[in-house]
Amino acid sequence: MCYAIPGKILKIEGKLATIDYFGENRTAAALDIIPKHGEYVYAQGGVIVKIVPEKQALESLKEWENVFQELKKIDEQTAKTDETKFTREIRQAIHKANNSIPLSEQEIIGLLKTEDSKLETLLKAANAARQKQQGNACCVHAIIEFSNNCKNNCAYCGIRRENTQIKRYRMSVEEIIARADYAVNKLGFKALALQSGEDEYYDEEKLVEIVKGIKAKCGALIMLSIGEASIETYEKLFQAGAHAALLRFETSNKKMYEQMHCTSFENRIKCLKELKRIGFLVATGALIGLPGQTNEDIARDIALARELEPDVHSFGPFIPHGQTPLASERKPSLQQALKIIAAIRLSTPNAKILVTTALETLASNAREKALASGASSLMLDATPEKYKQLYELYPGKTTAHAKIEEEVIKTIKLLKTIGRAPTDLG
Ligand code: SF4
Repeated sequence: MCYAIPGKILKIEGKLATIDYFGENRTAAALDIIPKHGEYVYAQGGVIVKIVPEKQALESLKEWENVFQELKKIDEQTAKTDETKFTREIRQAIHKANNSIPLSEQEIIGLLKTEDSKLETLLKAANAARQKQQGNACCVHAIIEFSNNCKNNCAYCGIRRENTQIKRYRMSVEEIIARADYAVNKLGFKALALQSGEDEYYDEEKLVEIVKGIKAKCGALIMLSIGEASIETYEKLFQAGAHAALLRFETSNKKMYEQMHCTSFENRIKCLKELKRIGFLVATGALIGLPGQTNEDIARDIALARELEPDVHSFGPFIPHGQTPLASERKPSLQQALKIIAAIRLSTPNAKILVTTALETLASNAREKALASGASSLMLDATPEKYKQLYELYPGKTTAHAKIEEEVIKTIKLLKTIGRAPTDLG
């Protein structure tokens, strides 16, 4: 199974390529792979990740063409809404989105205050906005959690430094590259997140070796999720071929941030801005349902994410972990998390919104519900089975014992049912 559709290069201007996908034109950056006019490529997150031999591309396109049109129809059908049921706040959000006027924080709060009786209408409006802006594309990335060691001590995190109950692990450089090779070349992923705690064992040299080793074997977008590494290190990693970075700001409330972390809020925001300056595709967002968090905080989180202009919005629920100072706090409901996803979609219509793996712990159908409430991207856990249950940022991880091969089949089946194409069209 393939998580990208090959597109044909129509034009290359500098580092920007125009690509044709079944008559729809998209643009993508040619950062370290420079195709020629007429060649076929895979692109992910707006970056060309591989040149595809013509014969292979044409075979894949033949397989995809009918399926793609069929899925589109299903998606269009499921995204239909009854606009007469829209609340004043939804109507206002859609009007502003159509005129490219950003929603104010007060207007976002208005959406977050949607009553339970109107929640379904809000979620459906967000799904329609997603369909209008992005069609039925749904990026499916793999994530490899390569170390659960961390020098930090974030109050909500199960792998924090002071948790002495957890069994720690580190994957070797060779193991990480081999697993990436399997995820890309055997399972078909075209985007790969590499995640760890802030683990100084992996110094700049090792990280560069990992990125270069993966690039040498895999045509895929490499996303780093390694915390606040130095800007010099991130620059070297970008040059080595990693072109995306996941770093959440967790909360826009500075006081709350500094109560939960041993690092500064300013530094986190500075790091995010530097990542953009270097050229990384950036994924960021916040935790939903932190103790003491208000609708005002969440509206500010959504506004801050919009200001930072990330390529992917990653908002996941706070799930209390027994070995942390927040063990006795409550997790948010699925309804609350969906409402926030819908508010992000309506306030930032063209956003790519990730269904986080933490969100999937809230209910067995959380993934499907989130995709029907404005979300447009998934991450499957491709960490080797012997490690994945040890990467316990939060308890109840749904994929702790799941085999990635089975997850892939389950995901493709779900996407087909709801009319989403498991692809990122450049
Ligand atoms: S949230 Fe990240 S930085 Fe904080 S303790 Fe957990 S792994 Fe470390």
